[in-house]
Amino acid sequence: MYKTPELKVRLQSLGVSLPQMDKGRKGGAGPAAGKSLIFSGTVANVPTQSTFVSESPFSISFDDGRYWIAEKGNKLTKVEFPKIPHFYEKQTSDGVPMKKIALLHGASCLASTVCQKCVYYGTKNACSFCGIELSLLSGDTIAEKTPEQLSEVAIAAKDEGIVNHVTLTSGTQSGPDKGLGKMVAAANAIKDATGMPVQVQIEPFKDLSLLDDLPSGGVDSIGIHIESLDEKALALNAPIKAKIGLPSFISMWNKAAEVLGENQVESFVIAGMGEDIKKSLQNMEKMVRAGAYPFIVPLRPIPGTKLQHERPPSPEKMIPYLEKASEIVHDGGLSWKKSKAGCLRCRACSPLPDFEK
Ligand code: SF4
Repeated sequence: MYKTPELKVRLQSLGVSLPQMDKGRKGGAGPAAGKSLIFSGTVANVPTQSTFVSESPFSISFDDGRYWIAEKGNKLTKVEFPKIPHFYEKQTSDGVPMKKIALLHGASCLASTVCQKCVYYGTKNACSFCGIELSLLSGDTIAEKTPEQLSEVAIAAKDEGIVNHVTLTSGTQSGPDKGLGKMVAAANAIKDATGMPVQVQIEPFKDLSLLDDLPSGGVDSIGIHIESLDEKALALNAPIKAKIGLPSFISMWNKAAEVLGENQVESFVIAGMGEDIKKSLQNMEKMVRAGAYPFIVPLRPIPGTKLQHERPPSPEKMIPYLEKASEIVHDGGLSWKKSKAGCLRCRACSPLPDFEK
């Protein structure tokens, strides 16, 4: 029998087949092409749609009136799925289906991509792993969500009692703030309407004084995602972020931690893009010293992206990496438990919170 952190890693590396069930969203920002499972005191977003999933030993079975995670047909542990929200059937007052505005992520996070277009998408500067505009092409969302639409959905979701925090991401926008102004306007509207804590996710920009306005703009936490802590892997997979460079990320993480407080800054670190683990861990120490939590996520090869034929890293690679990363996080005094909002509080996409001591 696996311990919970190891089972989460195995499920995220190998995927789980869901016979005759909804397999989750196909595209969009973040780790799409997956579904959230709630089991053994944790929540995991696991791949369900990529081709490699058909070879996974893991599946969901139904027995004794409930669902189980099974390995090669043998039941391992009980599993539940987040309820399908009622607001998915509702519309905003301007007639847009609410499920095109925001979705339930993990067990209790309301998530929206404020701007579904990215200035790099479809260009040579696009990130190789990202499928942000796929859900726009499929008609599952709209290009830009207004603060009014987002606050209406947040009220509906909160009133149902299914969410207690919010994350807002975005494709990078043109202009010196890379889209921060739109994110803060959305956060402010949601905070005013519901009081829920809100995270925004943004690419680094030059004028760090823009971060000073986050607390008064309704923002509680921030994601500033470097994606890889190995320069070579970063240059190959996220050329713009490689050009920004680790020192600029460190400056922005430091400033954000100063403005929003300890444990309110995180950065996605994708594992499985050919990175040197030793180098990544060395840079992770610098990252944690700058106040940012390394939200390690195994590569999610999303159908329709450049990396669609890749595979997530194996559990054998992930487990020692996560054990070392958990020591770095512990020594730096960071913990997912202290995060107020967003991906770190949700933790469905990263097994690192489960490895914390
Ligand atoms: S960790 Fe972030 S991207 Fe993943 S399910 Fe939770 S809110 Fe969504």
